[in-house]
Amino acid sequence: MHVRRKLIVGNWKMNGSLAGLAELAAIAGAARGGAGVDVAICPPFTLIAPAVARSGRLAIGAQDCHWAPDGAHTGAISAAMLKEAGAKLVILGHSERRAEAAETDSLVRDKAETALAAGLQAIVCVGESEAERTAGQAEQRVAAQLSGSLPDPDGPERARGELVLAYEPIWAIGTGKVASAGDVGAMHAVIRRALVERFGDAGGRVRILYGGSVNAANAAELLAVAEVDGALVGGASLTAAAFVPIVEAAARS
Ligand code: PEP
Repeated sequence: MHVRRKLIVGNWKMNGSLAGLAELAAIAGAARGGAGVDVAICPPFTLIAPAVARSGRLAIGAQDCHWAPDGAHTGAISAAMLKEAGAKLVILGHSERRAEAAETDSLVRDKAETALAAGLQAIVCVGESEAERTAGQAEQRVAAQLSGSLPDPDGPERARGELVLAYEPIWAIGTGKVASAGDVGAMHAVIRRALVERFGDAGGRVRILYGGSVNAANAAELLAVAEVDGALVGGASLTAAAFVPIVEAAARS
């Protein structure tokens, strides 16, 4: 039986500004006080370095990186550049990138392997659409994404960074709709089985986050579900007032 520390990650998406980094001081304070909980904020690329300068024990991450270590990729940011800027983690394969940037499972896997090789925590996101859930195909869809997006179990890369999974049903992201505790538990069990099948005992140490309209009111219930090791939080991570109670709920869970 593996003991996994809770991890609460805020995804600012394309929001935030230098002035808005004032929120980080209060969030960093909660990160210090939240014993047993790891806390991170992922702002847009341009805010990573200034956020790191204000972050204290709060980890700062990114929302994407390129699959190649360097080279002719105009407009792209590499995992090594993120490391140099002070980032500790990177979100990969978020459903908004899968939809807006046509990211495929194999591209996400390549990015995860590159990020892990650079020593970053790689948060690989999976999740079904509303139509897939309604059709009873949610678990099948997530299993397929896992089989295509998870890094190679034999790659030496895994030893350097830490793999994290995020289950984010697309229909729950930014909508105020939250998956039921029962559905979250069932899906996290599917993900855990896939991780153990792929990585053996090490699959039991991989943290699995839930994401999709997590807020102060529902965090405690979701974080109490078996195999839920934390949360990936969008809208409610933009202010300390909304985010800190989620960190506090994790510290109590
Ligand atoms: C997300 O973007 O990863 C997310 C979970 O967003 P929200 O919390 O706003 O649903």
